[in-house]
Amino acid sequence: MNGVKLSGYGKCGVSVIRVSGPRTRHAMEAIIGSRRELKARYAYLKSFNHPKTKEVIDKGLVLWFPGPASFTGEDSCEFQVHGSLAVVAAMLDALGTVEGLRPAAAGEFTKRAFYGGKIDLTEVEGLADLIHSETEAQRKQALLQSSGALSRVYDSWRRRLIRCSAHLEAYIDFAEEENIEDDVVLQLSKELRRIISEIRNHLNDQRQGELLRNGVRTTIIGAPNVGKSSLLNMICQREIAIVTPIAGTTRDIIESTHNFGGYPVIFADTAGLHKNTDDIVELKGIGKAKECLQNADLILLLTDARELLKNITTLKCSLHEYQVAYLKQLDLDVNSLVDKRIQLIANKIDLLSPEELQKLMKIYNLFCISCKQPKADVVNPFLKGFEGILRELCGQPTAEHPRITHERYRQQLERCIEHINIFLDEYAPDIFPDTAISAQKLRNALKCIERITGHVSSDDILDVVFKDFCIGK
Ligand code: GDP
Ligand code: ZN
Repeated sequence: MNGVKLSGYGKCGVSVIRVSGPRTRHAMEAIIGSRRELKARYAYLKSFNHPKTKEVIDKGLVLWFPGPASFTGEDSCEFQVHGSLAVVAAMLDALGTVEGLRPAAAGEFTKRAFYGGKIDLTEVEGLADLIHSETEAQRKQALLQSSGALSRVYDSWRRRLIRCSAHLEAYIDFAEEENIEDDVVLQLSKELRRIISEIRNHLNDQRQGELLRNGVRTTIIGAPNVGKSSLLNMICQREIAIVTPIAGTTRDIIESTHNFGGYPVIFADTAGLHKNTDDIVELKGIGKAKECLQNADLILLLTDARELLKNITTLKCSLHEYQVAYLKQLDLDVNSLVDKRIQLIANKIDLLSPEELQKLMKIYNLFCISCKQPKADVVNPFLKGFEGILRELCGQPTAEHPRITHERYRQQLERCIEHINIFLDEYAPDIFPDTAISAQKLRNALKCIERITGHVSSDDILDVVFKDFCIGK
């Protein structure tokens, strides 16, 4: 079987048409005549001819990638042609006349690379993320993953678990005859505990990889009229939400995705929270805002600078005490938010006297802003602070410490630990392990890792991965 694939469709400078599979040689000969003088992985300028009509379709570059040193592992080639629809259509028509060639399905080149053993499933998903990446930090993370950073970590655990299984089975089968020392068993449980601890470390990542991949869900909350919509508009530098002096203007949740210094952020502007309303629409909006909070990765708690200052100076409460009281005033269950990252922001500092402003600026860990008068000396430190929070939340993935980027990996890793623990719980070195049952328990742990990398052809996982993967590869 052969694949022909269009990388991108529409007018562009250059289009690349890729062919993969055992019929690649025939395809090249049909289009450019002899393929023989072409060196592997060199670009040659050639005339591309229609095999039936012999008409010249275009002049372009052809590259020959003999397998297995190709992306798919099969023989493959690339035709780089001028990117007009007519040229591409004529090339596809020409290739269609070559026996055994057909258009590739979405993601088929990658699928072939996977089945050919060139890349594992985490690399496939990394490649998909790379294609879909929208910000610089996302691109870096996806590139690491597509280059095998995660794959190396998981493969090392996989190999070690295989060794453990092999040792266990050898001990079970041959301990008596071959006089295998009980020390093997002791070493085995030590090694398993080491693996558990490494997986736990990997899992204990505050979901930084997933946050970076999926975007940091940032919800703006506060009392009515404190300037939530103004803040969203200021950060995104356009009028996303309607701003009016009328309390209760924002009723629905307004979402906006933004690239913030390389980090993807999904902002949500919410209805002002308060207890005193009978308005059905406003009540619904408040309900939605509370729901949105539960899914937030970061909460920007906006307050009026004058209010805050009054509380702190006259009531002599700490910033934390003020925050708790304010959340209560907004009718929020403070306990349900303890695990959330909350940043308090004082808005409308343009309404403060210079002395008041000075006092406010001294408060540690408080962000100050004026959405009405967004002067650089106020806005820039604010944006810098916000970027700092994003950097903290998303972290910096490295080749040595790649991050979990998919919930799927997390679930399998947790299950893997469970299986190892079940094995260890039942298994004491001085008790002769119950043969097949013990071995099976360890194999279950191994399978969890293999489900991540795709070593076991668990078709339901594979189907999802390749179906989700349909642009350009
Ligand atoms: P929301 O109800 O919290 O979304 O608040 P809005 O963004 O709709 O703003 C409510 C009112 O406060 C509007 O009249 C804004 O113009 C005003 N406002 C917002 N930010 C500031 C600010 O920094 N300074 C001043 N003086 N007014 C502001
Ligand atoms: Zn609003």
